[in-house]
Amino acid sequence: MYIAQNLNNFLQQLPTHVTLVAVSKTKSVADIKEAYDAGQRDFGENKVQEMTSKHEDLPSDIRWHMIGHLQSNKIKYMAAYVHLIHGVDSLELLIEINKHAIKHNRIIPCLLQVYIAQEETKFGLDFNEIETLLQSETFSNLQNIKVVGLMGMASFTDDESQIKSEFHSLKLFFQKLKISQPETTNLKLETLSMGMSGDYQLAIEEGSNLVRIGSAIFGSRNYIA
Ligand SMILES: *Cc1c(COP(=O)(O)O)cnc(C)c1O
Repeated sequence: MYIAQNLNNFLQQLPTHVTLVAVSKTKSVADIKEAYDAGQRDFGENKVQEMTSKHEDLPSDIRWHMIGHLQSNKIKYMAAYVHLIHGVDSLELLIEINKHAIKHNRIIPCLLQVYIAQEETKFGLDFNEIETLLQSETFSNLQNIKVVGLMGMASFTDDESQIKSEFHSLKLFFQKLKISQPETTNLKLETLSMGMSGDYQLAIEEGSNLVRIGSAIFGSRNYIA
């Protein structure tokens, strides 16, 4: 009951150009079904096995987003159905995703994860590494993946000005990249995935068009991630 209400409250204040991915990690199939029945179709998970078992138990028109850090040996379990992989942080991973996409005769959309936080713990590529990757011949030959944007996570801090400046730097880089990297068959920069329950307002102000929201919809999670 409260999930549908949270969802509707959240959607009411979300600008229409911003996509909501409801982050359902650790939450039950029943909880997800409640959000689904209230109209939500995009869901995010950070573990491939958990996502795959939920995929099997829930309606097939759900768009499943992999938002966690990816291990290449898990790609095969989701290659048939995953809607968007957010956390791609190496060319090697793209090569692996491409391989499995070929097996399923499909193109898998991906976001490159950009390192913007000041913490050492966050995964991702820096701006130079992203440019190098996108300009490489290896990348241009991957025809069963499509890089459709960037994803970033700000530092875990109360300092709003820091969060804002991290999101801002990613937005500027995204815009610059759109100009410097012409659209190709496997590159079209449209999606800027930034913002979680604690910082999505700042992220949207700074140009996010996809937010990944867990606790503000499903309530807090009882585990330490
Ligand atoms: C868990 C998670 C979220 C959602 O976090 P909330 O604070 O619960 O909104 C968003 N993005 C990633 C990558 C996550 O792992």
